[in-house]
Amino acid sequence: MQTTFALRIIFLLLATLSLSVSFAQYRYEFVAGKLGTVCRLVFYAKDSLTAQYIQAKAFSTIDTLNEVLSDYNENSEIRRLCDSAGTGKMVVVSKDLYEIIAQSLVYSQLSKGAFDITVGNYVQLWRRAKRQGILPTPAQLAKAKATTGYQKIKLYPAKQAVELLAKGMRLDVGAVGKGFIADKVLALLRQLGVNSALVDLGGDIALGEAPPNEKGWQIEIAYTAHSRTRKSQKIVLSNCAIATSGDTFQYISIGGQRYSHIIHPKTGLGLTEKLQVTVVAQSGSTADAFASAISVLGKKKGFALAQRLETKKYLLGTQIIYYTENQTFIKETKGIKELSYACDKGCL
Ligand code: AMP
Ligand code: MG
Repeated sequence: MQTTFALRIIFLLLATLSLSVSFAQYRYEFVAGKLGTVCRLVFYAKDSLTAQYIQAKAFSTIDTLNEVLSDYNENSEIRRLCDSAGTGKMVVVSKDLYEIIAQSLVYSQLSKGAFDITVGNYVQLWRRAKRQGILPTPAQLAKAKATTGYQKIKLYPAKQAVELLAKGMRLDVGAVGKGFIADKVLALLRQLGVNSALVDLGGDIALGEAPPNEKGWQIEIAYTAHSRTRKSQKIVLSNCAIATSGDTFQYISIGGQRYSHIIHPKTGLGLTEKLQVTVVAQSGSTADAFASAISVLGKKKGFALAQRLETKKYLLGTQIIYYTENQTFIKETKGIKELSYACDKGCL
């Protein structure tokens, strides 16, 4: 009788042990150079074979979406769509391309045109200015202007088709694409049974559930750009996304003026206000698009929009950092204050 009881205990112990072994999750991290940036995946899986399988699928999804959305590849689906601009024809497009264009139109409406994927020709002028060191001429800007304006995109939802109304239009999803792709990768990981994951595409980060036994993923928002001392803030997040926009890395200096790679759709020129905007939202594409849109609107109007959209639960938090000659200023919405804490010497 006693032996049976002892055995029962041993069996129970073994069962518990095997259960905890089969549920053990290990942290895996993979890095690859893609989308012109560093792409990082961190997730929890049961073993290295599974992890390798998952990372290969995830990185190949990034490559596939890049072939749809890349502005640099003349054979990408989006470039082929632009070839049809002004012909009066609608083009049936892939689900992903349709989705990102449809989402972008919503972001344009909500930001009253500050975010606008039809800025493609302005972006080309910015890149030329970078190469040549001179600003575009008024004639070049006027020509690009004729092809700009999100109202020039017509959607046919029933047919999953798009018509670009003005000849020479060029779409550029650079301000939303990485967030959009991060969402798709996170969704794929979930499909593959990975719930606890971080997808970081060069600072556009989509987050799944928290790592095991943690409250969330610790993300550092650094503000090194124009401040003299390096400062940062930590934020603990899960099941949402975060993105930062600003002129820290991508800008041109012409005639002593700094022009960011983010274009003001009204002027066609890069932003000159020194700003860094970080947005937390439910999805990567929303965070990415509004970090760019709020940058365009600037610290006053941008902050007002951030607050408005936070009240409607469309955004979860926004931080704007701006600089004067000697000082760094920070504006934060209620949402971001609740999520973060400061680290004076850098958190990591
Ligand atoms: P981000 O770094 O996410 O702010 O995106 C900047 C990129 O988005 C630029 O390099 C352009 O390709 C594109 N872009 C620039 N200005 C705008 C704008 N006002 N609306 C939408 N996309 C833009
Ligand atoms: Mg963006």
